[in-house]
Parts: sequence; structure tokens; C-alpha cells
Amino acid sequence: MASVKMRIARLPHLSSRTKQEAAQLIAHKLLRLAEGRSDDPATWRRVAERIGCRAVSYHAPGCGRGEYAATGPEGIGVIAVNTAYSPSIQARVWIHEIAHHELRVWIPPQLADAADIYRYADNPRDARHQIARLVERLVAE
Ligand SMILES: [Zn+2]
Repeated sequence: MASVKMRIARLPHLSSRTKQEAAQLIAHKLLRLAEGRSDDPATWRRVAERIGCRAVSYHAPGCGRGEYAATGPEGIGVIAVNTAYSPSIQARVWIHEIAHHELRVWIPPQLADAADIYRYADNPRDARHQIARLVERLVAE
């Protein structure tokens, strides 16, 4: 009998069309919930809180833009955004990390061969990160 890891390896990769459609659905939801300017980080912080995330800001020059963590599909998501970047970049980071939060249900960490705690490290080959980038572009540009 094939191991679980072998079975996961046989699953198809997401097509670029599927990623685009997922990004469009998430972008639509975010734009529907947003009130205020799209380049204002406060607009997206309110959206994050409205969908049940814990929203955290921190100031760490020279470090990453932000991060997302969740304790699985049913858990609370935590979004942390680095205020060392400009407000318009912070707005994009909120959008990006909110997209990760939305994706936790669609692509839970168990299916991505990750730990049960979804602490996301922005691997550029990760489909969730690619979709979050697309959402960022659809909403912020
Ligand atoms: Zn990402």
C-alpha cells in the first residue's frame, strides 16, 4: 500500500488558471468588506479584524514585511505587519496575509505537507503564497 506522502505527491499541482480564479474570489471578498482607501493599512487591518483575525503591528527595520500564523483551518489567524515599511506597502502586506488566512480553509497545512500549525514562511514555490501575491495585485494595483 502506498504511503500517505506518496499519495500526496501524486496529487496534481494547481493550474495557473485555478490559482487566478482563487485569487479573484478572495480579492472580491476583500474589496466587498473594505471601507476606506485601498492604500491605507488601517482599511485592511479593519478587514482582518472583521473576519476574525488577531491583528498585530510591530516595528522591525530590516526584517520581513509581515507574517501569518494559524492553528489549522478552525483556528484563530494572527496577522502581524511590520510598520518599518511605508503605509502603502503595509496595506499590501495586510492584503497578502489576509489572503493567506482565507486560503487556510482551501489549502490547509496538512495538505501542503506542513505542520498542523500554519506558520507561513513565504516560500515562493508555495501555491498559497503565489495566490496571495495575485490577490495583492488584484486589490492594491
Ligand atoms: Zn505569502
